[in-house]
Order: sequence, then C-alpha cells, then structure tokens
Amino acid sequence: MAVGPKSAADLSMIDPFGRAVSYLRVSVTDRCDFRCVYCMSEDMAFLPKKDLLTLEELDRLCSVFINKGVKKLRITGGEPLVRRDIMTLFHSLSKKLGNGLEELTLTTNGSQLERYAHELAACGIKRINVSLDTLDAAKFKSITRWGDLDRVLAGIKAAQKAGLSIKINAVALKGVNDTEIEPLVRWAHEDGMDITFIEVMPMGDIEPDRFDQYWPLTEVKDHLSKSFTLSDIDYQTGGPARYVRARETGGRIGFITPLTHNFCESCNRVRLTCTGMLYMCLGQDDSADLRAALRASTDNHLVSQAIDNAILRKPKGHDFVIERTHSRPAVTRHMSVTGG
Ligand code: SAM
Ligand code: SF4
Repeated sequence: MAVGPKSAADLSMIDPFGRAVSYLRVSVTDRCDFRCVYCMSEDMAFLPKKDLLTLEELDRLCSVFINKGVKKLRITGGEPLVRRDIMTLFHSLSKKLGNGLEELTLTTNGSQLERYAHELAACGIKRINVSLDTLDAAKFKSITRWGDLDRVLAGIKAAQKAGLSIKINAVALKGVNDTEIEPLVRWAHEDGMDITFIEVMPMGDIEPDRFDQYWPLTEVKDHLSKSFTLSDIDYQTGGPARYVRARETGGRIGFITPLTHNFCESCNRVRLTCTGMLYMCLGQDDSADLRAALRASTDNHLVSQAIDNAILRKPKGHDFVIERTHSRPAVTRHMSVTGG
C-alpha cells in the first residue's frame, strides 16, 4: 500500500476502538494547599521541582495536542492555582482559543479564586469546576484538613462576579456528607450553579479506608429522589457526567459513576501529568513518557509520534472493581498526579 503525506484527517487521534481523542486534561502540579482525606495523606511526598515540565514545555505540549485534534483543555492538579506563575500558561493557552481550541477550563479547590478569577475570565475561560463537598465549616476542615470554607465561598463569589459559570463537584461520602447532599443541591441551584456528584475512587494508598465511605451514586440518586423530582436530560459537557434536572429548582445535577456505571465506552479523554507522562486511562497504569520526546528535539515531530503510539494503546476501559474483601487501591498513583 502506498503511504502518502498525512492528510488533516490522519492527524487526529483515533484510538483502536474508533474513539477520537479531543479532550486533554493537564495536571500542572501535584502539589496542593489542601490535604483532602480521599485524595492525599497528610504527609504527602511531592515530586522534586526539577522533575516538572516548565510552563513553556507544558504550553508546547498542549499546542501539539491542539494541532492533533484536542478541542477541550482542562487544567487541573493537585491545585493548579498554587503553581508559581500559572497565569502565564493560561495567557499563552488563551491565544489558541478559536485556533483549534474550543474550550479552556480548569478544576480548582477554589482557595485562590478570589485572587485569580478576573484574570481567568480575561483569558477567555467561561466555565470552571470548583470542588466542594460540604457547606459545614467544621466538616469542610475535617475533609480537606487544611482548607478554609469561607475562603472558598469568597472565591466562588469572585468567580461569579467575574462572569465565570461554575459547576460544583462533590465527592459523595457515606457517613461524612450524606446528610448534606440535598442542601448542597439547593444551595448550588439557588446560585445558578450546576452540581455533580462523584463516587470515591480507589486511587493512591491512603488511610482511612475509602471503602467504608464508598456510597454508590445509584443510592445518592434514590436519596435525592425523595426531595426532588428528577428527570433524565440529554445535556453533555464533553465529560463523563450523566445529568438529570430537578423540577423543584430547575437546576442540573450530574453523576459521575466510575464504579457503578462503566463510563468508558464514549471516553474521548487523555491525561497529561506535570512531569509529561501521558495516561490513556484514569483507571489504568499504562503511560507514555512525552518529556523524553519533547526534550530530545526542538522539532515537534518526535513528540507527535510518541503521542500517536500512545493513543494506539488506549484501553477499552478501566479496571476499577468494587471488592470489599480487600481495600488495596486499584491504581496506586494519587488522583493529584493525574488530576480529576
Ligand atoms: N485540586 C483541584 C480540586 O480539588 O478541584 C483539582 C484536582 S482534584 C484531584 C480533582 C477532583 O478529583 C476533585 O473534584 C476531587 O474531589 C476529586 N478526587 C480526588 N480524589 C478522589 C478520589 N479518590 N475519588 C473520587 N474523586 C476524587
Ligand atoms: Fe488538593 Fe484537589 Fe486533592 Fe483536595 S482533591 S487534596 S484540593 S488536589
């Protein structure tokens, strides 16, 4: 068969199951100013700074992905807004909006939003995800260990004032925030925010045992049905959440169910870590080292080839299973490495 020059269609990233990869999540740091109990241990060891890609390298890698068909870019972490000079990356990525990139967004714990909300909006960011599991200050402290609820709420206000639309992400934790699911929905909807619930995932070796806190979202939905009339809606954000609308508030509630529902079949995402490792699946350990290819040449050809090879290894789905006989993590890296 004759092999001609690559056409524009050849440049897009199609995995072995025919899924086009159009969504890149980039964890810009593994560090964080919180220590959420389900995400990190209190004495987390972080990567040496010298192992991190520079902001220029991250920008270069993102550009290669955009040229190869990425339309949505989510910046995450660790806490992305604690990385030094992070706004320079947002400014340079914002120039790609309308030039292949359709959406630039971020997931944050909200602690730095008061400071950065206006600049983020000026960079063309329209929507952000803010993680918040409770509105009770003492409980917030016990979940995040180091977080301050008032500061996050002030950050949310600042973001709204800057014109950013906000989706709240809450991890549903049995015995921890189960009494707050309904108040969280009412609070979010009253303020015009969507809210999405996430099942706790077995990632990273952390005490206490998260299986004690595992609360299937099928049960969360049943619980919410007692207070709200929920109807399925066909709303998509490009992510894995399935949405319902609550008639009483008119707002949307999303459910991300990695354990009870296999959300893999329509997966269009890959994840890049702050050291340049590309993970083709959140729930699998296989990765490709893009840093080596990036640093080997100033030409992007090698890194583009490394991405193509990696996409060919994208698995059909993850291996998270609910096994109550043991509590080892399904994936040993922490969520803060690959980002949420
Ligand atoms: N620091 C930012 C934040 O908290 O939004 C961004 C990174 S954080 C790793 C992204 C999301 O992952 C958060 O919504 C967090 O609640 C969620 N997360 C962390 N560990 C998790 C786990 N073990 N299971 C489910 N979600 C988790
Ligand atoms: Fe930090 Fe986000 Fe992990 Fe909480 S969930 S420790 S805020 S990275």
